[in-house]
Amino acid sequence: MKIQSVRGVKDILPGESEKWQWVERMARNVFCRYGFREIRLPIFEKTQLFARSIGETTDIVEKEMYTFTDRSGEQITLRPEGTASVVRAYIQHKLYNPPGVLKLYYQGPMFRYERPQAGRFRQFYQIGVEALGTENPLIDFEVMTMLIEFFRLLGLDDLELQINSLGCSRCRPGYRDTLKSEIRKHLNVLCENCCARYERNPLRVLDCKVETDQEIARHLPKTIENLCTECEENFTRIRAMLDGTGVPYSINPQMVRGLDYYTRTTFEVVSKKLGAQNALCGGGRYDTLVEEFDGPATPCFGFAVGMDRLLSVIPFEKMDGTDIEVRPDVFLVALGDPAAEVSFRLAHQLRSEGLAVEMDYDRGSLKSQMRKANKANSLFTLILGENEIQAGKYLLKDMETGTQTEIAADTLSQTVKNSLRRKADAPLSTD
Ligand code: AMP
Repeated sequence: MKIQSVRGVKDILPGESEKWQWVERMARNVFCRYGFREIRLPIFEKTQLFARSIGETTDIVEKEMYTFTDRSGEQITLRPEGTASVVRAYIQHKLYNPPGVLKLYYQGPMFRYERPQAGRFRQFYQIGVEALGTENPLIDFEVMTMLIEFFRLLGLDDLELQINSLGCSRCRPGYRDTLKSEIRKHLNVLCENCCARYERNPLRVLDCKVETDQEIARHLPKTIENLCTECEENFTRIRAMLDGTGVPYSINPQMVRGLDYYTRTTFEVVSKKLGAQNALCGGGRYDTLVEEFDGPATPCFGFAVGMDRLLSVIPFEKMDGTDIEVRPDVFLVALGDPAAEVSFRLAHQLRSEGLAVEMDYDRGSLKSQMRKANKANSLFTLILGENEIQAGKYLLKDMETGTQTEIAADTLSQTVKNSLRRKADAPLSTD
């Protein structure tokens, strides 16, 4: 019986996984420079956590969660996103002590039962950051610019930062009422879903995926036209900071994001290289969520990058690949049984001294072993025959230049390391 993977999930195979590891290293590198530290979170949580934070009337909670009852009768959900768990952990472990700004990042798989298509999976990966503990718009600015820097380091230059402000608990209620009464005028044409939930959650109509609804939504009142003075000032300040540093952005008054917890600034980064699912990243402020879960008043700002989409737009073909690909330092080529015996011991020794070593376990002819060394993309091969072993000397072949050098057995690892260092320092060839 041939069992295939489940619809909407995928394997990340060697060849691809090195690219993922490289992107993750780059992310860690940038985020650490901005003071973010990793938090590792559970893959599943109590269903209530997501239902209450993301919002009962969102698509994620209504239609997309992987929820099950565990053996003790508890309602469990595979996490559809990371922010809710960060907030839960923040309160559970009293991370608000000592007071101040706490900067965290997380990464891992998320699960949503969506219709699989290009750029949309049922198990997908996010890397996200959350800055908890300040409402200063400096953090909104800093986190967004950190993200842009991260994307630039990955070689992405055709991105668009879109921002919006969703207002706060002071201006949102008035806006919701205005929006509801406008929506009422279109109930005969709006989709069933919008008609069913607009009373409880009118902002979701602005985010509806149905094309005819989107056309109506374009003409509905916008949050940024209904901000209170504080939110207005806050949004102006963020825009001024972006203008001042020359970060290109546009205002998208239509963007409300698919999760209910956002307040004030929200943003997305979209790529022109992607089709319908063009958002690489989404995020924003959520100033009331910690309090809603009985934690202390803690304004927060964060984002989540969709790794699957990100990986699909990075121009790997333009990179030289040295940071990404994993290649053996040395491939051991053994001729004859005694040499095989020695090479096996040598492999162990060189690996324990920090070198990446490969060999041909099925030991074919010299030609076939050299072919395997080539295929493995090894930097050097070390050739060991009976004569070499008796003489205490091996042949080290540089696989890029073809140069062969005789090296003494007792200085082997040091000589190989020196050769590797010289190779790393050598200027790139121009041909
Ligand atoms: P969200 O958590 O909905 O704000 O999404 C943040 C980012 O995660 C999006 O901008 C996408 O890049 C990515 N994302 C969300 N849902 C999916 C999915 N089903 N498949 C792949 N990536 C996704």
